[in-house]
Amino acid sequence: MDSTILQRYDRRVPRYTSYPTAPHFHSGIGADTYSRWLAAIGDQSPLSLYFHVPFCHEMCWYCGCHTKIVRRYEPIGGYAATLADEVKLIGSAITARPPVTHMHWGGGTPTILSVEDFTRIMNTIRGSFLVAPDAEIAVEMDPRTVTQEMIAGLAKAGMTRASLGVQDFTERVQTAINRIQPYEMTARVVGWLRDAGISGVNFDLMYGLPHQTVEDVRRSADLTAELKADRVAVFGYAHVPWMKTHQRMIPEDALPDGTERFEQAEAAAMRLVENGYRRIGLDHFALPGDAMVEALDAGQLHRNFQGYTTDQAQALIGFGASSIGALPQGYVQNAVPLRAWADAVRHGRPAVDKGIALSDEDRLRRAVIERLMCDLRVDLSAECRRYNESARHFAAELQSLQPMAEDGLVIIDDDRIEITEVGQPLMRTVCAVFDTYLASGAGRHSRAV
Ligand code: SF4
Repeated sequence: MDSTILQRYDRRVPRYTSYPTAPHFHSGIGADTYSRWLAAIGDQSPLSLYFHVPFCHEMCWYCGCHTKIVRRYEPIGGYAATLADEVKLIGSAITARPPVTHMHWGGGTPTILSVEDFTRIMNTIRGSFLVAPDAEIAVEMDPRTVTQEMIAGLAKAGMTRASLGVQDFTERVQTAINRIQPYEMTARVVGWLRDAGISGVNFDLMYGLPHQTVEDVRRSADLTAELKADRVAVFGYAHVPWMKTHQRMIPEDALPDGTERFEQAEAAAMRLVENGYRRIGLDHFALPGDAMVEALDAGQLHRNFQGYTTDQAQALIGFGASSIGALPQGYVQNAVPLRAWADAVRHGRPAVDKGIALSDEDRLRRAVIERLMCDLRVDLSAECRRYNESARHFAAELQSLQPMAEDGLVIIDDDRIEITEVGQPLMRTVCAVFDTYLASGAGRHSRAV
C-alpha cells in the first residue's frame, strides 16, 4: 500500500466489537433496566454466556485487559464463589429457559481457577441455565501455567475449545513484553489439549510489539501452522499507556512505526494464507472446514466482544467484574472494581453500572458496520429496508467514502459498498464513516493498523 494512503487512513478508530462502542456506555443504564431486559428474554432465542476472570500470575507489559496480579488463591476462590452466586442471581431473573449454545471464559487468566472451582461454577451454570448438549465452551488459557491435569479436568467439565495466548515465538520479543513462553511449552500444551479430545484450538498472535520484526512475525505464523491451530487471531498491539500504566514498561522507541506495523500485519496474513488458512475479516484466520469459514461463506459470521464468532445468539450475558453483555434492547457492563461487583451480587442485585439502550438508528448502523467487518461488503438498500429507511439515509456517508473509493480502498456500486483487498487492513476506518458517536470524542482508540 502507498505510504501516503496508509498515513491518510491509519486513524485512531474503534475495533467495532459493538456499536455503539463501550466509551459511550453511561450510568443511565443500571440494574433496574437490566433486570427488565433479562425478564424479556424468550424461550426461543439461544443464549450466549461470557465469564470474566480478572486475575493473572504476572503482568505482560502489552496487556490491555481488565486484570489484577495475585499471588495467593484466596481472592480467586472468593471471586469464584461470587461468580457462582451471580450465575444463580441472573439465572433466576430470566424466567424463560432458552438454550445456551455458547460459553466463553476470558480474562485475565480463567485457568487461574482451580479445576474444582471451575467445575463447581459449571455445575451451577447447568443448574441455572439450559445448556445445549452441543454447546461450545471455550476457555482462554495461559500456556505458561496450565497443567495436563488441569486440561483434563476442564475437558471433563465440558470445555470444547481452548484459546492460547502466544503473541510471538521470538525470545527477544517475549523478553520485551515480559512473557517468556518457549515454542516447546506451547507445543506441549497443544499436545495435552489434543490428548484430552479438545478439537478446537485457537492461537492469539500479535504484531506491533517492541523489537518485533517482519521476520519474527512470519516465523510465528509458520510455527502456528506447524502446530495446526484451527483458528488464529492476529491483533495489533495497542499502546495506550495513559489507560494501562504498566505499558510504560514498553520502550516507545522499540515500537515499530505505522509502516512497519502495516508490513508486519500483512506479512502475518500472507504467511498464514500460504500455510492454508482462510483470511476472515480484520484479523482472524481459520483452516478450511472450520465452522468459522463455513459461517463466513454462509454470510452468518458475527462480531461480538470476543471478536469474530459463529455464535448466532441474540443475547449475550456477561458475568464477573467488568464483563459486557449484549441484549436485543442494548448493551450493559458490570462494575469494573471487584468490590463494587461483589457487593452488588452479595446484595442480590445485578452488578451492571452502565450501558446503552439501542435506537433503531443504532441497530441499522450496527448492522451496516457488522456486515462490513464480517463480509467486507454491504448492501445499504437491503439493510435500510429492514429498518423502513430509504438508502438516501446514507447519502452523506456515501459522499464521505468517495475519497476512499478514489484511493482504491472501497468500490461503490450504487448503494453497495465493497472493501477491496487493499482496503481490508483499513476496514475500521471505512466503518468509522457510519459511526455517528465518534465525533463526540468519547474514548481514545488504537490505530486502524
Ligand atoms: S496473561 Fe493475558 S490477561 Fe494476563 S497479564 Fe498477560 S496478557 Fe494480560
